[in-house]
Amino acid sequence: MTTTHGNFCTKITRFGVMNNYLVEEADDLTAIDTGMAGSADAILAGAQALGKPIRRVLLTHAHTDHAGSLDELMARLPDAEFLCSGQTARFLAGDMRLDAGQAESKLRGGFVRRQTKAAHTLADGDQVGSLQVIAAPGHAPDQLAFWDTRDGTLYAGDAFQTQGGLAVSGDVRWLFPLPAWATWHKPTALETARKLAALAPSRLAVGHGPVLESPQAELAAGIERAASKFEK
Ligand SMILES: [Zn+2]
Repeated sequence: MTTTHGNFCTKITRFGVMNNYLVEEADDLTAIDTGMAGSADAILAGAQALGKPIRRVLLTHAHTDHAGSLDELMARLPDAEFLCSGQTARFLAGDMRLDAGQAESKLRGGFVRRQTKAAHTLADGDQVGSLQVIAAPGHAPDQLAFWDTRDGTLYAGDAFQTQGGLAVSGDVRWLFPLPAWATWHKPTALETARKLAALAPSRLAVGHGPVLESPQAELAAGIERAASKFEK
């Protein structure tokens, strides 16, 4: 299912709960995440409906439900660039070591290896089209969020889920517990949640669940609930 939110954000959902996004620029599109394996057709159909080519493919993190269709999508987009964090690039190549300074916690969730190499890697503060890159570790150590500086849409990957109610990654929602179970380090996830909420996004677009408009109150409540569980 494909839905458009505001002027620039199109969400493509498969299996009811797996989201990826197309972000509209003046002349082209940026894809954020590629979905489970087998999602390329849905993403390309979404781009066709918008009438613009996909020129950039970004990943929030290397979990299988975000990176699964990377190779099949890039094979069909010879003119597009693939960009991700340096750690996502290493994870995709099978190097699962953590970086110095990262919490020594076990990686969780399904990470996948993929062939596609990043054109270059992204770090906190970089700009890609209209999107500002924000380091967003916690759910996974390699995670990035993307902040559309035109209208305040925040693409937060799995830093939050909205399926079953807004939750910080790691705070289990029993209607849809998978992202919480796949969370690497809860204190880091909570720190990232506070950093992202402080941007005061006008719209929140996440990997699992509906896009939320004016999400301030829900963010505050979700962070308070996670803090009461993670910080006791
Ligand atoms: Zn994930």
